Amino acid sequence: MESGSQFRLTPAQSAFCAQVRTLAETDLAPLAAAGAAGHVNRPLLAAMGRHGLLARLFPGGADGRAEAAALDLCLLRESLAQVSTEAETALALQGLGTYPVVQNGTEEQIAHWLPKVVAGEAVAAFALSEPGSGSDAASLSLAATPTTGPGHADGWTLSGEKIWISNAPEADFYSVFARTTPEAGSRGVTAFLVPADRPGLGGEHLDMISPHPIGRVTFDNVPVTRADLLGEVDQGFRVAMRTLDLFRPSVGAFAVGMAQAALNASVTHAGQREAFGGVLKDLQAVSHSLAEMATRIEAARLLVYSAAEAYDSGEKRIAARSAMAKLFATETAQYVVDAAVQIHGAAALQHGHLLEHLYREVRAPRIYEGASEVQRTIIGRELYRG
Ligand SMILES: Cc1cc2nc3c(=O)[nH]c(=O)nc-3n(C[C@H](O)[C@H](O)[C@H](O)COP(=O)(O)OP(=O)(O)OC[C@H]3O[C@@H](n4cnc5c(N)ncnc54)[C@H](O)[C@@H]3O)c2cc1C
Repeated sequence: MESGSQFRLTPAQSAFCAQVRTLAETDLAPLAAAGAAGHVNRPLLAAMGRHGLLARLFPGGADGRAEAAALDLCLLRESLAQVSTEAETALALQGLGTYPVVQNGTEEQIAHWLPKVVAGEAVAAFALSEPGSGSDAASLSLAATPTTGPGHADGWTLSGEKIWISNAPEADFYSVFARTTPEAGSRGVTAFLVPADRPGLGGEHLDMISPHPIGRVTFDNVPVTRADLLGEVDQGFRVAMRTLDLFRPSVGAFAVGMAQAALNASVTHAGQREAFGGVLKDLQAVSHSLAEMATRIEAARLLVYSAAEAYDSGEKRIAARSAMAKLFATETAQYVVDAAVQIHGAAALQHGHLLEHLYREVRAPRIYEGASEVQRTIIGRELYRG
């Protein structure tokens, strides 16, 4: 089942999803399997560049400014996630790291980086979280110190640390959010594009349970100038939120894709596995579990598509809708993958099994880009807004 009663994909959208899944099976999954776990897979990214998937993510191409439709982004992420979470994540991270540049960068920044990103040759990262500020991102403290005196900054030096940064420390450039005005909360944050070869920039890999390149980035008086700004001084929090607003429903789409893969595997397995003189699906407990999984996935998919469509149609009050989509889809995926493990039994827990992989992969989206509790807070707040 690809679409629901109210929301129906057009034939062109359905064909696009099928095309992406086929491409992922034939070309991307083998490249993902050949990559080193926890490291950036450059051949995989180059293949996504060659096949035009990154061009779909950045429809402005090398000139940059045009944004992908949120629904298109969701279809891309859901389709890839059904086949290869590595390909999905690699693509999504290019988007997360590069959209601050697409949306706020200068002509020079775009001309330098976009062609390489679209070709899958340059790796991007989005560096917001710090050891002392995760969900409360507005309290971040990476210091941007003016090099020519307060109020007259032609340049700054960045000092401090970012943590849990996907693609770090292997990225070629970072969209970095730093504190230019102390004690000013979200109004004192500035965004910079920092190329990885800047002196003083360092980092290390972090070993996580999710199969995902991720690391720490350290800044030891890293020089940046006005030419590195993404947007205006002290307006960087908006830069971060604008990118996250576009991506929030698509985190739900990633979750829906993983859940669909888990359901597909479970339907196949329960239809074949012999037990008690029949096959598993003939046991009512198993068929009801499959039915529950399918129903929740469909509900999650509809929430995701509807949030994306609201974003694309310019609807003003989309915060609650996006939060519901991200919350419900990521929690659903956790439920579905766990139920799929149960239906598969011990085999699902063996290293290398699809479900063992999904079990590790499905956990993090309930924490990043706004933990489930933060999404509930947003939804609760919106219930009392005019
Ligand atoms: C796989 C992975 C990839 C990531 N990639 C990136 C990246 O590329 N760039 C980046 O900048 N960051 C990234 N992160 C970091 C991520 O954004 C943070 O983990 C997230 O913002 C939560 O911050 P925290 O982990 O410090 O948890 P905390 O902020 O300490 O929160 C811990 C828990 O407290 C509860 N909580 C927090 N706030 C509230 C609230 N307002 N209401 C109710 N409960 C609350 C929630 O249960 C939450 O899970 C990544 C994380 C993971 C796991």
